[in-house]
Amino acid sequence: MLNEKSKQLHEEAKKFTPGGVHTSIRNIDPRLIFTKSEGAYIYDADGNKYIDFQAAFGPYILGHNYKEVNDRVIESLARTDLYGVGTTDLEIKCAEKITKYVPSAEQVLFCNSGSEATYHAIRLSRAITNRKKLIKFQGCYHGWHDYVARNMLSEPHMIGKRDPGSAGMMDEAIDNTLICTFNDLDNVERTLVENKNEVAALIVEPIPHNIGCIMPEVGFLQGLRDLCSKHGTILIFDEVITGFRHDLGGYQNVSGVTPDLTTMGKAMANGFPMAALAGKKEYMERFNTNSGGDVWFAGTYNGHAIGTSATIATMEIMETEPVHQHIFALGDRMRNGIREIHDRLSLKAYVAGFGSVWTTYFMDFEPKNYTDLMQNDAKMYVTYRKKLLERGIFKMPMNIKRNHISYSHTKEDIDNTLQAIEDVLKELVQ
Ligand code: PLP
Repeated sequence: MLNEKSKQLHEEAKKFTPGGVHTSIRNIDPRLIFTKSEGAYIYDADGNKYIDFQAAFGPYILGHNYKEVNDRVIESLARTDLYGVGTTDLEIKCAEKITKYVPSAEQVLFCNSGSEATYHAIRLSRAITNRKKLIKFQGCYHGWHDYVARNMLSEPHMIGKRDPGSAGMMDEAIDNTLICTFNDLDNVERTLVENKNEVAALIVEPIPHNIGCIMPEVGFLQGLRDLCSKHGTILIFDEVITGFRHDLGGYQNVSGVTPDLTTMGKAMANGFPMAALAGKKEYMERFNTNSGGDVWFAGTYNGHAIGTSATIATMEIMETEPVHQHIFALGDRMRNGIREIHDRLSLKAYVAGFGSVWTTYFMDFEPKNYTDLMQNDAKMYVTYRKKLLERGIFKMPMNIKRNHISYSHTKEDIDNTLQAIEDVLKELVQ
């Protein structure tokens, strides 16, 4: 794989930006500079073409540079944009559409990133309950801010402990974020009892995709619902990845468990910057500071025509075309194909996934939580992804990361990927 131009450009990038990248974890080897994207494919500065399963960490549910969505954005921009006061016709239509599908969404507010949405959800929960503490799960990611940016990819000795996550974080934020174990209701109940009347909210990725694809065990999400109701704690489903990708109504619609608040982002606008916070009207009205509300919510770019028109277009395509049917079928094809390869090679590995998302863990049982993932052979995982990259299959070579299939991927893309997977694994198990 030639990457001379990428190398040169990366040296340029480093002059102007720390490490040459605009998100800390993007600084991985090889450092590629991308110049073009189209449907299921991305291209780097040296002209290498990749089948993309990274999907920019998930937004591309229809595919890159998806013409129908781009056209709708361009059309909208020809007549409207952003005003800073009042509301737009696009904001109304977009909010109405989300409330139609997402069970917990009686009302919606728009922002520009998942981190903003989770920040606002937590602030609102604290206001509603007049409590400070927050429960999150080891391994789950909810954005970059101080309340949640900790205990994600912790070292084994820091699992569940006070793992600050970043220099510069406020001690009070760290001390008030309690870490629980996914799929362990006893652990959650104990934490709620030990912190009686102190836990404002529990935030959870209903499927923790930030560590691949750990499925909630039967009854786990309902158990969280029951415990939160019992303890007066606000249940927040962070559906920034699962929302729209697994169902127009999010994973809450699939699981039948309705949280109090929901955060959304990524796939909702097929790659355009857009996110939302939704929830019960009685709670959301606390943001209505004109009529007695007392919780501050703001953002210069909230509700911009780019994000709202992209969301409306993406949702309309999901309503009228077999998007989920297609990506779920290709997801099954991929998972089954990989399992057959593992069998042929007598390889002990676990293929996890749901719908359009999949990951291969190099361990011989289904992981239920982050601690189980310590059994994953991280070196093998990263080497495997690196070797696939060299064969034109784009998955960032990082440990325990998921892959995404889009509406633009074809059976041929999946079969070509399976062939590459088989070739790489044969090499690795020799
Ligand atoms: N919540 C989840 C589940 C995420 O995966 C992410 C980002 O990966 C976020 C929140 C933060 O979203 P953003 O990067 O748009 O701020």
